[in-house]
Amino acid sequence: MAKVIVRQAQYDYEPLKQHIYYMLDQFGGAGIKKGSTVLIKPNLLGPAQPEAAMVTHPLVVKAAVEYVLQRGALPQISDSPAMGSFEKALVVSGIREALRGYDVVFREFKESETVSVGEPFNRIEVARDALEVPFTINLPKLKSHTQMMLTLGVKNMYGCIVGLRKPEWHFRTGINRYLFAKLLVQIYTVVRPSVTILDGILGMEGQGPGKGGSPRELGVLMGSSDAVSLDISVCRMLGIDPFALLTNRAARDMGLAEGPIDIDGTMPEIRDFKFPEITPLVFGPRFLHGFMRRHLVQRPVCDDAACRSCGECWQYCPAKAIERRHKHLHFDYDKCIRCYCCIEVCPHAALRAEEPFLAGTIKKVLRHDL
Ligand code: SF4
Ligand code: SF4
Repeated sequence: MAKVIVRQAQYDYEPLKQHIYYMLDQFGGAGIKKGSTVLIKPNLLGPAQPEAAMVTHPLVVKAAVEYVLQRGALPQISDSPAMGSFEKALVVSGIREALRGYDVVFREFKESETVSVGEPFNRIEVARDALEVPFTINLPKLKSHTQMMLTLGVKNMYGCIVGLRKPEWHFRTGINRYLFAKLLVQIYTVVRPSVTILDGILGMEGQGPGKGGSPRELGVLMGSSDAVSLDISVCRMLGIDPFALLTNRAARDMGLAEGPIDIDGTMPEIRDFKFPEITPLVFGPRFLHGFMRRHLVQRPVCDDAACRSCGECWQYCPAKAIERRHKHLHFDYDKCIRCYCCIEVCPHAALRAEEPFLAGTIKKVLRHDL
């Protein structure tokens, strides 16, 4: 039976460290071999201070590093940020400073290796460093996610796809969110972290996972050797059907989410978490799908007053659906696959997902009449 450890916690280092040590002890940390390299994979989406709740808190990373060092092993912190440089993300997040003087390797994921994952993707390229180490500690952040609803343990492994291969995969899976969820689960099964410890002490709600989201105090730390069971437990804590989260549904369909979960600790009940609105990307009769996607489906929009024309969004957009014209952003909603990467990478919170005016009313009419 999969086990999930739940602890109420704050960013108070000594008690936090005790919780993290306990979780690592419970999930095979004692087996870390002296002289080996242990990969620590935080959520380092981009340069953001801990108060923004975009990245794993430096004290969570520090406790994992100390644990590894105490076992005589070498901690390696790696990720492939969606925006900004790896170094800048380390500095602004406070992780560099928290680990000053420690014997740690900081290495951005750069090299990939092709691995077989079976249907439908067959072969994907995953960071070599994530495949070669014997022990991986996955340190995700609990955040809302405009495309996938939440980003938790399984989705954090998407950072093991190097650099611009990430938007390529968004483009290949297109508007099919379930297909993208399946890809995320396949990446998770390839990397298969030894332990996942979720930083939900200061989480993010609303239009996450980037600057558009809102920090939310949740005070919870969760650990498991099985990230799928951990993600299912988070959904239960937040009062939603666990299989409404598509990564959980894909994992269940792949036979990875079966059986009861043993909870060690007291699971809080959080019933007022603000989820991003996830609307269907196609609905109604097939011949109207094109029109509907263009005019009725939720889509990214720009707040001109907040936009600094930095170019992050149009450079990252996998569908090349954003252009700058006459000092304004222009979206080609025919091309746009609604991955919301642009919202995720915008460093100035200038983008948000919005349903076009009257879309809700028209959808209701269509549902009744057709
Ligand atoms: S919307 Fe955001 S990412 Fe895009 S150009 Fe403006 S500030 Fe930059
Ligand atoms: S415009 Fe934004 S949501 Fe649309 S495809 Fe580009 S990055 Fe994704």
